[in-house]
Amino acid sequence: MRQKDVRAPPGLLGRERSRLVRVGGTTNLTSQALAGTIFPMTAPFVVLHIPHSSTVIPAHVRPSLCLPDKDLARETLLMTDQCTDELFDCQAESVTRVVFPVSRLVLDPERFTDDAKEPMAKKGMGVVYTKTSDGKALRRPGFVPTRAELIEEFYRPHHNKLEIAVAESLRDNGSCLILDCHSFPSVPLPYESCSGKTRPGICLGTVPSQTPEWFIQEAERLFRVKGFSVAQNDPFEGVLVPDRYQGNASVLALMIEINRSLYMDEASGDRLPGFPGFKGLLLRLLEDLIDFVLKQLRMI
Ligand SMILES: [Zn+2]
Repeated sequence: MRQKDVRAPPGLLGRERSRLVRVGGTTNLTSQALAGTIFPMTAPFVVLHIPHSSTVIPAHVRPSLCLPDKDLARETLLMTDQCTDELFDCQAESVTRVVFPVSRLVLDPERFTDDAKEPMAKKGMGVVYTKTSDGKALRRPGFVPTRAELIEEFYRPHHNKLEIAVAESLRDNGSCLILDCHSFPSVPLPYESCSGKTRPGICLGTVPSQTPEWFIQEAERLFRVKGFSVAQNDPFEGVLVPDRYQGNASVLALMIEINRSLYMDEASGDRLPGFPGFKGLLLRLLEDLIDFVLKQLRMI
């Protein structure tokens, strides 16, 4: 998306902003679009959430993990959504990115902090993993930093960033689009409950309150046109939306999961030779999807 596509004409911004503030946060997107009014953006409208790309394990966390270096490197390779920070490196003016800075083996920001709400906690893979992807011990008994300390250090700041990004778009634009960006292994890991069928190239995760049908259909169409096989909510379902915005129809959300075999050698972690071309294709597709949503919402 080019800058000229998303900004208000000079002189119009102030007037439009005052109107946007009045409608912010509670606008029904369908009625907004039907009203035929142009609602130009004044803050980034798209939040690219990239939670699982990092391989960083801080020095003060490493001693709490009981795997030897070689095994930890293998577990990191298996569990990391390698290169998703690069693949989703969209620099458009309409986009802001929230990238989790450390490995999900340190803490998984996509899990509920309340184990009672988090199904993966039963497998030792709640917000702070105690087990590996094949059920072995990951953390030492009585580990330090503790679960509570890790949540304070890594979960809260990350989710604050995410909430602020959404809040700013709601305040200034009246709506927001969250794209939750992941990748998944082409062969299921032992911890996954799965059907055993062939995995798609692209998995789109949706929730009814946040992902309207017109949006899902266009996202699926754009990927299919480029030759990808697409499945909805398979092998992973849903999309992360901050608690306070769940059910808010002004916050659109979609999870995009890419089959790792499309861009990397999953055994070594090396990128495939076609990586730059794949990235270019993905970024153009994202721009088309964002443009489509902006047009639907009369923001361009
Ligand atoms: Zn992921």
